[in-house]
Amino acid sequence: MSGQSCVHVRATGDRCKGFAIAGSPYCFAHDPAQTMKRTDARRRGGQAGRVPPLAESNLAIRTLGDVLGLVELTINDVRAGRVDVKVANAVGYLANVAMKAIEQSDLEARLETLEAVLEPERARSIMGPKR
Ligand SMILES: [Zn+2]
Repeated sequence: MSGQSCVHVRATGDRCKGFAIAGSPYCFAHDPAQTMKRTDARRRGGQAGRVPPLAESNLAIRTLGDVLGLVELTINDVRAGRVDVKVANAVGYLANVAMKAIEQSDLEARLETLEAVLEPERARSIMGPKR
C-alpha cells in the first residue's frame, strides 16, 4: 500500500481523506470504476433489499408435487412483490436440485422393486434379513 490519498475534491473544497485504492488515484467511494460496478450490482439485484425475506418457511419438499407447489407459490409471491427476486432465484435453483434428487430416489426405489422380482437372492441381501 502506497498510502496515497484520494484526489477527489469535495463540494466544500476539501480533498477526500480516503486512501486511494490500488491502481487508482481515487478511494473506493470515488473511483469511477467502482461506482460503475456498484450501479451494475444494484441494477442486477433489481428490488434486492427492499423486500424482506419471508419470516418463516417450513415447507416439506419430498415429492414432485411438493416442488411444483413451491414453484407455484414462489411465482405468485415474486409477482406480487412479497418475496425478493434474489430469494426467488435461489428457490428456482434449489427446486431444480430437489426435483432431480426426487427423480433419482424414485428411480432407485423402482430399481430395487425390479431387482426384488428378478433376483430374490440379491434383493434379500440388499433389504437385509426379514423381521
Ligand atoms: Zn475519495
